[in-house]
Amino acid sequence: MIIQLNQAISESNKATIVEAIGKLGYKSTEVKTQKGKYLVSIGKKEFDIRSIGHLPGIDDIHRVSDEYKLVSRKWKVNRSQLDLGDGVVIGGNNLSIMAGPCSIETEKQVEQTLTHLTQNDVRIMRGGVFKPRSSPYAFRGLGVSGMKMWYKQARAAGVKIISEVMQVSQIAEMYDYVDIFQVGARNTQNFNLLDELGKVDKPVMIKRGISGTIEELLSSAEYVFSGGNEKLILCERGIRTYEKASRNTMDINAIPILKEKSHLPVIADPSHGIGIREYVEPVALAAIMAGADGIIYETHQNPEEAFSDGQQTLDFQESETLIKKLRMTFDLRNSF
Ligand code: PEP
Ligand code: MN
Repeated sequence: MIIQLNQAISESNKATIVEAIGKLGYKSTEVKTQKGKYLVSIGKKEFDIRSIGHLPGIDDIHRVSDEYKLVSRKWKVNRSQLDLGDGVVIGGNNLSIMAGPCSIETEKQVEQTLTHLTQNDVRIMRGGVFKPRSSPYAFRGLGVSGMKMWYKQARAAGVKIISEVMQVSQIAEMYDYVDIFQVGARNTQNFNLLDELGKVDKPVMIKRGISGTIEELLSSAEYVFSGGNEKLILCERGIRTYEKASRNTMDINAIPILKEKSHLPVIADPSHGIGIREYVEPVALAAIMAGADGIIYETHQNPEEAFSDGQQTLDFQESETLIKKLRMTFDLRNSF
């Protein structure tokens, strides 16, 4: 059950509500976000919500039977949208395109990528400066200095930044230089990291775990929301299965399911989802048709020379074609 509290509720009125639902066998956790105040109350006994609905300080009460509560679609009339400023909005009737290299490598690369993105009116650039790599000997990112160099150029170009945060200490280091924190597939259930991102007033995109279920992804988002941060995006990026023909198995099914189960925007990552350059486009278009609010994918001026994930990275020509087709597909879906 979610009890939406009045922003101006007094401590004593809140205590009265907690006590009243406590007597009904419900344990409450108070959640305060940038947007609202809530009591998330967990209990089993059925009762008539009108019996507490009159208490002062309650704006609304919603029964939510899902394990995850605040990210559930069940209590929100309207889907969530994220306004990044400067006309960049994720969710609603917007197609979000986030493109860029797997890793931020050089100043020149950032400049070339930004030119490509702005020429195609793409407003969000992706890139990693902290890279989770299977091998400790592989390129692991430029770190904070790369982040600052990227930020300077991106701001000048009017482009927003999404980048992966791998551990708690990096949140503060990155804070001033990112518009969206990305939680990678290897960190979906790093609950300490999720708790800390709950305290941050910046959007967080959580990728589905490599072997994670849809419910686990939603529960990870619940961690951040219940920690105080409502600015959330879910990302399907493929899961590990027995199939060897592709790097991962892109779970297109997850897209309509996530949209049905949650009010949060859903982004698809076909680059990691299939892991093969030639097939990134069809999978991206399929994800849009399945209801995704946008796509995040990897592009590089010369994929053969990319420091990481070159095999799944589009060159700028392929990227331009994809951007056009994404927009056409989005319009087609909206015309249905
Ligand atoms: C990435 O976006 O480059 C990345 C490492 O993604 P994932 O966490 O989905 O593997
Ligand atoms: Mn990558």
